[in-house]
Amino acid sequence: MPSVDPSSALVLFSGGQDSTTCLAWALSRYERVETIGFGYGQRHAVEMEVRDPVRRGLAGLSPDWARRLGPDHVVPLDVLGRVSVSALTADQPMGTRADGLPSTFVPGRNLVFLTFAAIVAFQRGIKRVVTGVCETDFSGYPDCRDDTVKALQVALNLGMEARLVLETPLMWIDKAETWQLAHDLGGGPLVDLVVADTHTCYVGDRSHRHDWGAGCGACDACRLRAAGWAKWKGLPTP
Ligand code: ZN
Repeated sequence: MPSVDPSSALVLFSGGQDSTTCLAWALSRYERVETIGFGYGQRHAVEMEVRDPVRRGLAGLSPDWARRLGPDHVVPLDVLGRVSVSALTADQPMGTRADGLPSTFVPGRNLVFLTFAAIVAFQRGIKRVVTGVCETDFSGYPDCRDDTVKALQVALNLGMEARLVLETPLMWIDKAETWQLAHDLGGGPLVDLVVADTHTCYVGDRSHRHDWGAGCGACDACRLRAAGWAKWKGLPTP
């Protein structure tokens, strides 16, 4: 069995495919793993509701994971949804804005999330903050870029006199490789858990079931997830 890093990690955990894969990644590496989630008035609040079942499901996959999984922290950031208007937080159409950014872009969201996560990590003596941002096939969010995360890590460590490490295990892999990573970490049972229990759809649809999970099948998040699944399975692009 590979040796486990004795240090601890805090995973930004939304209940989606990416952050669930990141949580499994951290549980397979670190001796103590806690999770943090944010309520910010998102339209797909169903994400927040699947967090507990997904955490329990992960703990059920491995006694080691169950032992390492620590408390969950939920931070209400409703103010973000009031200050930052987007298609994720208001009843606006999905699409592309005049400046080329997706309408689902919530300005500053990941900067705020990572900063609050760093505050919690700092106070709890946790060294690593893990986030599922990715610039390979991302939806065009500039705060998911590697340079953004690296710059923020420098700013946080300077500003808090800390040595936090922001870890981004998905940064350079695509959605198909994220499915493969889940399979590498937890085999078929973890893939099944991701399909059945995680939530990615922007409009909060859990009534339509597909091979890749629940969702409307039409929003950007569903299309990315479905295309990644098809590529991983060697199926035609949907
Ligand atoms: Zn959808």
